[in-house]
Amino acid sequence: MEPLWPRPKVVVSACLGFAAVRYSGELIPDRIVAALREHVDFIPVCPEVEIGLGVPRPTVRLVRVGEGVRMVQPQTGEDLTGRMQAFSQRFLASLGQVEGFILKNRSPSCALKDAKVYAHAVGGGVVGKGAGLFAQAVERAFPLLPKEDEGRLTNARLRAHFLTRIFALARLRAVEDLPGLMAFHARYKLLLHAHHQAAARALGRLLAEGKGRPFVALRRAYEEGFLQATRLPFRLPSMADALLHAFGHFKGVLSPKEKAHFLDLLADFREERVPLEAPLALLRSWALRQGEEYLEGQALFEPYPRGLMEARSS
Ligand code: SF4
Repeated sequence: MEPLWPRPKVVVSACLGFAAVRYSGELIPDRIVAALREHVDFIPVCPEVEIGLGVPRPTVRLVRVGEGVRMVQPQTGEDLTGRMQAFSQRFLASLGQVEGFILKNRSPSCALKDAKVYAHAVGGGVVGKGAGLFAQAVERAFPLLPKEDEGRLTNARLRAHFLTRIFALARLRAVEDLPGLMAFHARYKLLLHAHHQAAARALGRLLAEGKGRPFVALRRAYEEGFLQATRLPFRLPSMADALLHAFGHFKGVLSPKEKAHFLDLLADFREERVPLEAPLALLRSWALRQGEEYLEGQALFEPYPRGLMEARSS
């Protein structure tokens, strides 16, 4: 039976399938966001509509001014920077707890890093790329939270990384006491090992020394450590090391042929000839056969709802 998953709250650019709010009056259907709707509570927002620009509307652009960037509407010459910054701060402060952001790429408001920056309010002359004004405010307000744009989410590895983190965070935030936090850490041990071994050990120490510390502060410190440790997608050698660690549990019960087969599979995984799912499936079947409950329950085997797992290897 599929475990009960808490539903992460994710802020999303409203034009990604929620409302026809693009400057052109379009809505952009997004199959990944659509698939997530069954498992995620989305909070759609269109910053440009929120600051009073209509639909359709004349385009806006980012313009380099000295060391900074302004948001300008070339057709009217209006500088919208102050309005956008004020809305962004107000909106983000009102959000409460959220687990992540999916924002529209290339937008002067929503892009996380690839909005064009122009030399002038009118005419050509792109001088660089950067984050849109709303996305800049998101980064300042929630520096550690998972954030992706819809373009990067089409990459299976980046998508798996994003989903792993938002569901882990939702699960972590539902933990209410130290034993629960320790159980969470035990469950995510292999996954943390695959991301950052030193950080995983530091989180273990944090919990070992956590007795007597106010729980909310302890959970916040653990959450920060967890988000830092998983900030980047896993590297293949680190993941292979975590898988080898899990394999160690079965050394005494496997035949030489089974051991050789797993090590071959691991080598293929390192060389990107087989997906992560191949060695994981083998380890999981051994864990089930041997009744290895610690391994069976590892989040690495199922870091987010099974209904989304198909997307992991597509
Ligand atoms: S990219 Fe952002 S500002 Fe532009 S239409 Fe979409 S939600 Fe609105």
